[in-house]
Amino acid sequence: MTSDLECIFCKIIEKKIPAAVIYEDPYVISFLDINPRFKGHALVIPKVHVSTLDELGDEALAHLFVVVKHVAKNLKETLGADGYNIISNNGSVAGQVVPHLHIHVVPRYADEKKGIGFEATFPVDEEAKNKLHEIAEKAKIKHEIKPAFRKDDKADTSEKEEKKDGKEENKEALPYESEYFEDNGVPKFR
Ligand SMILES: [Zn+2]
Repeated sequence: MTSDLECIFCKIIEKKIPAAVIYEDPYVISFLDINPRFKGHALVIPKVHVSTLDELGDEALAHLFVVVKHVAKNLKETLGADGYNIISNNGSVAGQVVPHLHIHVVPRYADEKKGIGFEATFPVDEEAKNKLHEIAEKAKIKHEIKPAFRKDDKADTSEKEEKKDGKEENKEALPYESEYFEDNGVPKFR
């Protein structure tokens, strides 16, 4: 895996710095934030060194977020979290401190009585509010984004969807080829 010699998260990946690890696989590691905002505040990071989310390949990102989901679910089940915030600061302008992509999974508890979400951090930009449609026209994505994984998702062995009517899905109908897996079913990271 690519790493940055000076990067603190790469050092955690290489086990040169200890961390409270809660999950690890060949591509992703999750550990608790050393400055937790709430009990169980975890970070999920790719093992490849990229600074921001847009620099990571689609397949790697898809896997990263599958792990984010499992971490969140696990925090509910093991620590009794009632909800959670998924937060990622990308770029110093957005408050990113460690320049290695990381997703915060911040468990929230009913008894904290704060109920503050992301919206509380920033006031509404009234000018942007008044120009929503103009801005949407400018920001529109004009190409179709294909899913990173096929329907017969080989990467997810944990939660197969139950077939309600017992019918096999028509895999022949997929409009694209899977280029996303090695022969052993491990996702390729580009
Ligand atoms: Zn790094």
